[in-house]
Amino acid sequence: MALLDLLIPPACSGCGTYGEALCRRCRSAFRPAGAPLDRFVAPDPAVVVGDELQVAVAAFRYDGVLRRALSRLKYGGASRLAKPLAEAAAPLLADFAEHHRSAALVPVPVHPERLRQRGYNQAALLARHLAGDWAGEVADVLVRARPTSQQHRLNRAERLRNLRDAFALRTGARAPPAAILVDDILTTSATLEACAGVLRAAGSVRVVGIAIAREV
Ligand SMILES: [Zn+2]
Repeated sequence: MALLDLLIPPACSGCGTYGEALCRRCRSAFRPAGAPLDRFVAPDPAVVVGDELQVAVAAFRYDGVLRRALSRLKYGGASRLAKPLAEAAAPLLADFAEHHRSAALVPVPVHPERLRQRGYNQAALLARHLAGDWAGEVADVLVRARPTSQQHRLNRAERLRNLRDAFALRTGARAPPAAILVDDILTTSATLEACAGVLRAAGSVRVVGIAIAREV
């Protein structure tokens, strides 16, 4: 936990009220990503690593209070937001997790340089809290070999080029037989596809993905 988190009482990242990192009222304002079928994202047909990712599902729409909270988790050092965000998303993802309950949760990794700056990988924090909720297991087995932080400014073709070879299996790590990739935001499924490609090549038989929010 960041030092600031210990010194300053948490203010809600949605409304600013002191007391909780994310208050109940703001949490209830999160909008589901859609009807159950709309929440499923088919593998991106333009992804070069193949179709290793079976399916990915997101809990919420990436907008409003949730967008602010995820942004503060990712860029604002607010690591304490991981728990309430995971708690809010867990019920919407529970059926999916139950269907894949033998799978280990694999966080999408951040580049070591970014990890040093930020102090944590937000996807790993989310995975840990989700695993706690579901009595699942976290397998933090992927690493990011190259920074890919400018993704959101790229078009699809550039994004895919940028992602090629960006991920690798951690030295000495074993890919779990079944994996649920965990990320904070799902834009295209390109990042999850790239991670799934690495896991499949390393022996994972089944790879699916979840995210807190879907950018639509
Ligand atoms: Zn609030």
